Amino acid sequence: MAMKEKEVGVEDFVLLDEVTLENFLENIKVRFDSRKIYTYIGEVCVSMNPYRQMNIYGPDNVNKYKGRELFENTPHIFAIADAAYRAIKQRHRDTCIMISGESGAGKTEASKIIMKYIAAITNAGGQNEIERVKNVLIQSNAILETFGNAKTSRNDNSSRFGKYMDIEFDYKSDPVGGVITNYLLEKSRVIQQQPGERNFHCFYQLLRGSSDSDLKQFYLNRDPSQYFYTNQGSKETLSEQNDYKATTNAFKALGFTNDEVSTIWKIIAAILHLGNISFKSEEDNIVISNQASLQYAAKLLLVTESDMRNSVTQRVIAARGDVMMKFHDVTQAEFGRDALAKAIYDRLFTWIISRINKSIVVPGQKRYNNVIGVLDIYGFEIFDVNSFEQFCINYCNEKLQQLFIELVLKQEQEEYNREGIEWTNIDYFNNQIICELVEQPHKGIISIMDEACLTVGKVTDQTLLDAMDTKLANHPHYTSRQLKPMDKELKHRENFRITHYAGDVVYKITGFIEKNRDTLYQDFKRLLYHSKDKNLSDMWPEGAQDIAATTKRPLTAGTLFQKSMIDLVATLLKKEPFYVRCIKPNDTKSPTIFDDERVEHQVRYLGLLENVRVRRAGFVHRQRYDKFLLRYKMISQYTWPNFKAGSDKDGVKVLVKEKGFANDVKFGKTKIFIRSPQTLFALEKARNEMM
Ligand code: ADP
Ligand code: MG
Repeated sequence: MAMKEKEVGVEDFVLLDEVTLENFLENIKVRFDSRKIYTYIGEVCVSMNPYRQMNIYGPDNVNKYKGRELFENTPHIFAIADAAYRAIKQRHRDTCIMISGESGAGKTEASKIIMKYIAAITNAGGQNEIERVKNVLIQSNAILETFGNAKTSRNDNSSRFGKYMDIEFDYKSDPVGGVITNYLLEKSRVIQQQPGERNFHCFYQLLRGSSDSDLKQFYLNRDPSQYFYTNQGSKETLSEQNDYKATTNAFKALGFTNDEVSTIWKIIAAILHLGNISFKSEEDNIVISNQASLQYAAKLLLVTESDMRNSVTQRVIAARGDVMMKFHDVTQAEFGRDALAKAIYDRLFTWIISRINKSIVVPGQKRYNNVIGVLDIYGFEIFDVNSFEQFCINYCNEKLQQLFIELVLKQEQEEYNREGIEWTNIDYFNNQIICELVEQPHKGIISIMDEACLTVGKVTDQTLLDAMDTKLANHPHYTSRQLKPMDKELKHRENFRITHYAGDVVYKITGFIEKNRDTLYQDFKRLLYHSKDKNLSDMWPEGAQDIAATTKRPLTAGTLFQKSMIDLVATLLKKEPFYVRCIKPNDTKSPTIFDDERVEHQVRYLGLLENVRVRRAGFVHRQRYDKFLLRYKMISQYTWPNFKAGSDKDGVKVLVKEKGFANDVKFGKTKIFIRSPQTLFALEKARNEMM
């Protein structure tokens, strides 16, 4: 037994001899080497990316985990999915499963495994409608990945957006609907890719997968190197031809009409043509060098060529009721073209998701009773150069860490305090202060950015940095003045540093103002609103606005993101949480290499060690006395059919004593606390035998 344990390690980090980082890493390594990819910390599932197909997701395993408590089987993500499902089925509680980890750690795969498991264990009655919903839920992934995923240096199929999906269940706990919410798509990828990375999959699927006649209709040829938006990065081909078919099938399964599908691909094609439009100045005039690209884009977007030309070369300026046209210079025109490409893509993506949501929910469907939310969202990012996007993503991770602390650590300690149970304090870092650094009204970074963006006159990234330095000089998690510019030629400062809970990240201020403003000239909104393509026009309702009307400033990207995070946290807070913490063993996608340093880093910033400590100091199970008695009273002669000799607490004490568990439990004010899983297991077993 001891030998065997050594080979595969412990199944729950709580069972380590001593909780140290070294032991933790040793255990996870031993398990990885023997291909045990899942390990628990209490009810948290730590998942190691195996980088190979695992034969553990078949029907046999589904049956093995179905309806079982966590501790009854070896660790598996199925067990977490089942626990979440039992919470809705048995206790009618909404639940959520939060999946976190850095890029490539296996979050999206985990979310798909969870969905497939839930699909596999529901609808025993085989109802068509429920089968349809399950199919739609699963097929929606194919579409989301086509338009929201891309090859990056870390992951060939990296999600470039955050996703939260509610799966809705009826009173029989069968799935009857769902809602997908997306967060901050990395739209800059549409116009620019790093070496070795690619644009979103859809562009290559269209070029390589669609028929010759379709391509001709889109005025395209097959070669991605012909288009500026697809020729900057990796030339690698993935499985586009098959994927294009899968996307087409998924569109069908979700009931997208031919019109809708055609709009989608036309927009993708138009974006490729847009990217090939270039400008030059001739005698103070701006001219378009390649007219054909402009004409193709106009045709595909169903707008007139002259409207298209005007909107890329000039803009309308309305001042006190007067309307004037002003020509762009080349830089402005290029900026406008790229902003247009990004905005069209971003709107399209959001539109596709709302379209998917419509097809999941059946019109006239009875209301759902409970939901399981699955959150698959970008992990903490530290790149060589970190910009506005990393700032948002890392802020998101601070919020989720806050939630984790609140729910798992703080709640646990507070409950022990409340119940009068002895507790050795666990020191953990509360990252509230970092959340405030970002989001506090007036004083936080997002507010300071907004203020800079609203200032009339010339505001540069530099003035923004100065403002931040002044206002945040004394914040313990903010540094800037001491930092040297990355670019040695530069005299002025360009960086600031945030000490995140997961470590220090240096952000480069260049582009923050523009990315936060997220300007799209009003002219483009009008252009697209007036498209003869109804679907496209629907995506741009604000283009209906009168030219002369003074437009209210749209909310900044930073503020919108902050709002979406606050909403998300509020949604999650209402649910019973389950956690999957994903780790990648190495950066080379190898199924055998265990990179100690990389794993250690992830273990640290996921706060896993603190998690084990809290869990260990604690109890695996707790239950109110009345509920406990109700569940187990039949196993004791003293409590069956009713305990009359005192309070519920007295009854529980008598029962526990009779069964010989007294040393493994503590009695709080209103609840019993059970230390080890074996006790709980024995109770369940005794109960089952009586039933
Ligand atoms: P993330 O969403 O965290 O960025 P993914 O879920 O896309 O990461 O996983 C990246 C890659 O790792 C997948 O494309 C797959 O090759 C591999 N992978 C992840 N999880 C598993 C798993 N459970 N079994 C086999 N391969 C996996
Ligand atoms: Mg992903």
